[in-house]
Amino acid sequence: MPGDDVRAGIRRALAAVEDPELPVSIVDLGMVRGITLSAGAAVVELVPTFLACPAQWLVESDVKQAVTRVPAVSQCDVVWLDGGWSGADVTETGRRALAGVGLAVPAADGTVLCPFCGSHEVGETSPFGSAVCRTAAYCQGCRTPFEVLKVKRTLLRPAQVP
Ligand SMILES: [Zn+2]
Repeated sequence: MPGDDVRAGIRRALAAVEDPELPVSIVDLGMVRGITLSAGAAVVELVPTFLACPAQWLVESDVKQAVTRVPAVSQCDVVWLDGGWSGADVTETGRRALAGVGLAVPAADGTVLCPFCGSHEVGETSPFGSAVCRTAAYCQGCRTPFEVLKVKRTLLRPAQVP
């Protein structure tokens, strides 16, 4: 199997890995930053989306499992990069999927729009949402509560890979 086909297979496998807490793939969340392949050993570079979300370790094990199922891949390592993720990295598909469950993703400049009606008239009601990585908010436009993904940078250091 030529390298390009293997890489395409890995991309497809990653597109099927969903965040454990969100109905959206890690690719649509903008978490996948790089794939390297050398003699059947794949290295997938990911950026964590939230501070303090335990889901990071679940994602890592799901990624390893999915990628090692790709033919011609015998091994997969995951490297976590040091932050750099922002709401702007979420794809349109990802935004639509998240809006469908009432979850807004702030834009790169921090702007939050209502996931239901697109209104700017939104405010935080509590820093604590249903998960540690979410903030509760309320839209004045359509009078609907929703949640916002927190987009703080992680404090994790990247693993050193020789
Ligand atoms: Zn609204």
